[in-house]
Amino acid sequence: MTLHIPFDNSYARLPAALFTRHDPTPVAAPEMLAWNAPLARELGITGDDATAPTATERAAIFAGNRLPDGALPLAQAYAGHQFGGFSPSLGDGRAILLGEVIDTKGQRRDIQLKGAGRTPYSRAGDGRAWLGPVLREYVVSEAMHALGVPTTRALAAVASGESVQRETTLPGAILTRVASSHLRVGHFEYFAARGDTASLSALYDHAVERHHPDARDPLDFLKGVIERQSDLVAKWLGFGFIHGVMNTDNTSISGETIDYGPCAFMDGYHPQTVYSSIDRQGRYAYDNQARILPWNMAKLGSALLALMPDPDAAIDPFTQAVHAMPEMIEARWLKTFAAKIGIAEPRAEDRALIEDLLTLMQAGSSDFTNTFRALPGNEAQDQIADRGGFLDWVGRWHARLESEPEAPVLMARSNPAVIPRNHRIEQMIAAAVDGDMAPFRNLMAALATPYARPDDPGLTKPPAEHEVVTATFCGT
Ligand code: AMP
Ligand code: MG
Repeated sequence: MTLHIPFDNSYARLPAALFTRHDPTPVAAPEMLAWNAPLARELGITGDDATAPTATERAAIFAGNRLPDGALPLAQAYAGHQFGGFSPSLGDGRAILLGEVIDTKGQRRDIQLKGAGRTPYSRAGDGRAWLGPVLREYVVSEAMHALGVPTTRALAAVASGESVQRETTLPGAILTRVASSHLRVGHFEYFAARGDTASLSALYDHAVERHHPDARDPLDFLKGVIERQSDLVAKWLGFGFIHGVMNTDNTSISGETIDYGPCAFMDGYHPQTVYSSIDRQGRYAYDNQARILPWNMAKLGSALLALMPDPDAAIDPFTQAVHAMPEMIEARWLKTFAAKIGIAEPRAEDRALIEDLLTLMQAGSSDFTNTFRALPGNEAQDQIADRGGFLDWVGRWHARLESEPEAPVLMARSNPAVIPRNHRIEQMIAAAVDGDMAPFRNLMAALATPYARPDDPGLTKPPAEHEVVTATFCGT
């Protein structure tokens, strides 16, 4: 059998300034590390029968060594605000879009290789990725999906058989990423900064068609993105997730989590938690994420202004759309955290109940995931240092739950048992570097059903002192 990917490419038909046609650079010895068969089926990929010839072909295709029929590889142009400063030219420096498919549900999806070699946007970079970040993104993005968080997906991970030079010499790999699109805020900034309104307008039409077909004008479109991104950040907060690099080039138009670099799920709760080694000021700390998002959306708004018939007159309503965000995110935050303590329809006063629990958790650095998970059985008191304070809180909480008959069900589906903990990811990567993929498979199996108790109870444990990961590194 031959692997067939039903490409239907639309980005490649957009104006030339939006991208550069560019093929992946072949690698020495592609070897399949991971393959997401259910996702492949969802994408309408056929002929994938896992016989030896197909497996070899699969590795060749998803390493970039062999172009599948219908692929039209390209690298996209985009800009971005990185840690507050504007970079007018970023673009896909190590990612190549193979093409798009219409999946079995009728939704257009991008299939992109990450780490597929240099492109015209690579600047000083080598266009490659090493095994660690490839497997990290594979695990974390698939975990996010299973948790119910909008995200790009992972279709394949292939070892390149080449080494990549970072601080040390490391094994190279290529990730195949699937997204409802790879459009970022930075795409709009790229053309706005150049005053290229024709390209900006073509990009806008494409984005509207893919993500917000009901948008009547750029303001409406902005509001649509704001809504999806606000939903997303509230979900991140609810799982203790820290993206780590919320630059505008890593902020999607679709509202999917994109670009898993130094991301992490927090273990002990502290609102100012930062893992990313490059985020020295804590700009993208856990609880700053809700504040940075409006900033990023203001950048999208600024870029879209040029598309309005009277940009000056549009400044006011665009600004209002962004200023409405804190309240919008707050409402979603309340809904998310209320569900975690069993409240389906939160009232304003529930905020204090949630915050008081978080304060107790913060004081003793309680494990974020396990504390919420343990609430129903009252085992959470083992997680919280101030026992008296906690029992007092439980009294108030139980009184509130009297009018919430669905609380146990709601909590069971809002509080996962398993998240991809940093130390587990690090151990998984270390094993994979040594050629042992068992920890990867073990993690993936448990993360597929994160709300169920895992077979391996060790996966729910916070890190022991010697296992604590204090810094995560960018995916370069
Ligand atoms: P990131 O921090 O991964 O979101 O990447 C920021 C920018 O740097 C994007 O334009 C990437 O394409 C580019 N980039 C990151 N790593 C590499 C690399 N190894 N080679 C070329 N470009 C890269
Ligand atoms: Mg990026």
